[in-house]
Amino acid sequence: ALVYLNGAFLPLEQAQVSVLDRGFLFGDGVYEVIPVYGGKPVELAAHFNRLDASLRGIHLINPLSRAEWRAVLRQLVNNNPDGDQTLYLQVTRGAPPARDHRFPDPATTAPTVFAQAKPLKPRDPQVLAQGAAVVLCDDVRWSRCDIKSISLVAAVLARQAAAAQGAEEALLVRDGHVTEGSTSNYFIVTSNQQLITPPRGPYLLSGITRELVMTLAQAAGLTVTERDVTVDECRAAAELWLTSSTREVLPVTRLDGAPIGDGRPGALWQKLDSCYQRYKQTLTAD
Ligand code: PMP
Repeated sequence: ALVYLNGAFLPLEQAQVSVLDRGFLFGDGVYEVIPVYGGKPVELAAHFNRLDASLRGIHLINPLSRAEWRAVLRQLVNNNPDGDQTLYLQVTRGAPPARDHRFPDPATTAPTVFAQAKPLKPRDPQVLAQGAAVVLCDDVRWSRCDIKSISLVAAVLARQAAAAQGAEEALLVRDGHVTEGSTSNYFIVTSNQQLITPPRGPYLLSGITRELVMTLAQAAGLTVTERDVTVDECRAAAELWLTSSTREVLPVTRLDGAPIGDGRPGALWQKLDSCYQRYKQTLTAD
C-alpha cells in the first residue's frame, strides 16, 4: 500500500527523508494515531484538535488544512476500505541545510509530513479473558506530556522495562501519583465502585479513548471522577483498565505481579467494553 509523504503517495520503500530532518536529529515533531473500523475513523475531529494542540505546543503551523488532511487520510484508508486499520501521521520541523537547535526559516524549510495506514491488530482474546499485567515505573519524562511528541525515548525505556518483566504496559509514577501508561491512559474502579481517572494536565496525554470512555460511562449512568490517584490506590483498586486507540478498553489484572481485585476482568470493565464495541458500530464515514 502507498504511504503519504510531503504531497505524494509513494511505495513505502520510496518514501525517504533527509538525514538532516529535525525529526531524525532532534525528535522535533508530533504525531497522531487514529483507529479506523470498517473504513470509518474514530473521533477524527478530536484527533485533529489534538494534533493542532501538539503543533501549537511546539510552535509549528499545521501544514495541511483539515480538508487536505481528510483527503490524504481518505486515500490511505481506501487502499483497504473494509478493514480495521490505524492511521499514523507525523509532522516534523523539516530538514534545513544544517543542524541547529534554533528553528529554521519557515520560508525555506517546510515541515515534513508523513502518513501511513496499517492493519489494526485485533486485541488478544487471551488478554481480554484473563486481563493484562502491568508494572509501575518512575516517570522520567518531561513536563509537557500533553504534547504528543515523537521524542519518545522515555516511553520506549518504560515500555521495554515492562516487556522485560512480561507485562503489557508500564504505569508511570510521578510524585507518588500514577499519571498514565507509557502508551495509554488508565481508569480505576475503587472498592466502593467509584470510577476514577487522573485529570488532564501537563503530566499526561489526554487520550481520545480516555475522553470517549468518560463519555460512554456517563451515558451509561456512571459518574467518572477526574482526580490524582496514588500508587496505593492503584494497588488496592477493584478494577484497573488501560485505554488507548489500539487497546480500546483493556482490563488489567496484575500490578507488579500482585492481583488487582479478584484477579479477573471486572464487571464494570465488561460493561464499558460492550459500550465501546457498540459505539464502534455507530461510526460514520468522516
Ligand atoms: N498516553 C500516552 C503517553 C500515549 O502514548 C497514548 C497513545 N498514543 C495515550 C495516552 C492514549 O491516547 P489515545 O487514546 O488517543 O490513543
